[in-house]
Amino acid sequence: MRVSGYVQRLLRAGVVNAGQEAVWLACHALGADTAGVIAGEFSAEECARVEGVISRRERGEPLQYILGEADFFGRDFRVGPGVLIPRHDTETLIEAVKLCFGREESFTFLDWGTGSGCIAATVLLEFPESSGYVVEASAEAKCYALSNFGRLGVSERVTWCEGFPECDLTISNPPYIPSGEIAGLMREVREFEPVCALDGGQDGMKFYREIFSRSRSDCIILEAGDVRAIKALSSDYVFVNEVEDSGGFPRALIFRRQIQQ
Ligand code: GLN
Repeated sequence: MRVSGYVQRLLRAGVVNAGQEAVWLACHALGADTAGVIAGEFSAEECARVEGVISRRERGEPLQYILGEADFFGRDFRVGPGVLIPRHDTETLIEAVKLCFGREESFTFLDWGTGSGCIAATVLLEFPESSGYVVEASAEAKCYALSNFGRLGVSERVTWCEGFPECDLTISNPPYIPSGEIAGLMREVREFEPVCALDGGQDGMKFYREIFSRSRSDCIILEAGDVRAIKALSSDYVFVNEVEDSGGFPRALIFRRQIQQ
């Protein structure tokens, strides 16, 4: 068998980027490099190893879970079943932090619902004088975050906590899909990613309400689902700026605490 046979199988399974994915999966299963995988005819023993990862992908499991890692802001994060896969759109939150703080500034932040830890670790690495509190309800997700903080060398600058400690910035990509819309999501997401990282309650706004009412920071940066609904919620906080995603939609929203008269 050559890698082209696996490309055909992934194409039949509806994988859009089948050519590259077949190569990445085979490299991962065999511990080989791209050139080796593309050039070679696989032995029976190699085929058995590649079969495992290809059949997982055929069944719709996300590529990142099979490879065990996902890119976020140019760095690799360990991921797997039980933790939300970092999204490219979420990188806009980091751009938003850059609009609010200078690289050498010393500040504290809370990453509420840290998941894989991609936001907290990236802020810590992009802002070397910052320190972070992190909150995560899922024990499975917490294991990935701990591993990512360790691998990226930021564990000592992270404080695990519950609730909303006083700090300079609250940042979050909370679950924001309305419960009734979960069933209509793409299969890869719906069947494989943790529903607790997606489900934002009946109107999708449950966690935004909690963040606005309980935050004890001057600045809040949120990934947005329904931008208008979120802006309408912000009673103690006023909307000040936004960062658009690659599709040109506002994705990261920046709020400041209103000065009480
Ligand atoms: N903060 C994590 C991320 O952005 C997890 C978010 C979530 O689970 N809703 O990927």
